[in-house]
Amino acid sequence: MVRARNVRKRFGHLEVLKGIDLDVAAGEVVVVLGPSGSGKSTFLRCVNHLETIDGGSIHVDGELIGFRANGGRVRHLRKREITRQRREIGMVFQQFNLFPHLTVLQNVMEAPTGVRREPRGPARERALELLAKVGLEDKAESYPRQLSGGQQQRVAIARALAMRPKLMLFDEPTSALDPELVGEVLATMKGLAEEGLTMVVVTHEIGFAREVADRVVFMDGGVVVESGSPASVLDDPSNPRTRAFLSRVL
Ligand code: ATP
Ligand code: MG
Repeated sequence: MVRARNVRKRFGHLEVLKGIDLDVAAGEVVVVLGPSGSGKSTFLRCVNHLETIDGGSIHVDGELIGFRANGGRVRHLRKREITRQRREIGMVFQQFNLFPHLTVLQNVMEAPTGVRREPRGPARERALELLAKVGLEDKAESYPRQLSGGQQQRVAIARALAMRPKLMLFDEPTSALDPELVGEVLATMKGLAEEGLTMVVVTHEIGFAREVADRVVFMDGGVVVESGSPASVLDDPSNPRTRAFLSRVL
């Protein structure tokens, strides 16, 4: 589903991604760990084309992100083509960024009816199904400010799913939550994983990585340092940098 090869990204003189290689199979859940500043968010943003890469390539579901290979030449995609690619990739951030003036149901229906021009009736049905999936069917008519942080993040997940993404990217989805609200969001994500959704999750929740991930990737200094099963990376890391990081967070 994702094939990243030698992905490079710099901000001015700062080289943030120094050749990332990462594969994610369809249906796989990959948890990305790594210290602050290692480039985790930047990498997710490159996959979703919120950032343009300076080198290498990213394919999602066989399609090159952001560029078109034309014979031997490569050109940037047009804005409209980028928008189409982006719609197939759901993203959930630390900050949920719901529309405050829309109800929960309207938040979830907004993209399908606005961007995709789906008829309202079926979009509403589906939005209600998604709210049920994240355990919030009884909050459809509430406004975001009336919900807890965990509930708001679950609405954000439902909203991303409403676009029927092939791939979901999560960037520290529980980092902004009070500790007692983390579990409900992780449980929702675990449910999605069990349904076979392809997910890349940046998180410091080691328990989630151990329980839900098919693979754990450790990034440091803009490269993938180590990758393997949760047990191998978390319990028996081969790289000293992975060991040092885990000893700080475990
Ligand atoms: P954290 O765990 O703190 O979220 P991260 O691994 O997600 O860290 P990134 O946010 O990808 O790290 O940032 C990697 C580096 O790139 C950092 O040094 C950051 O300051 C820098 N950086 C990120 N975005 C930009 C930007 N738009 N302009 C300049 N520098 C940036
Ligand atoms: Mg980050």
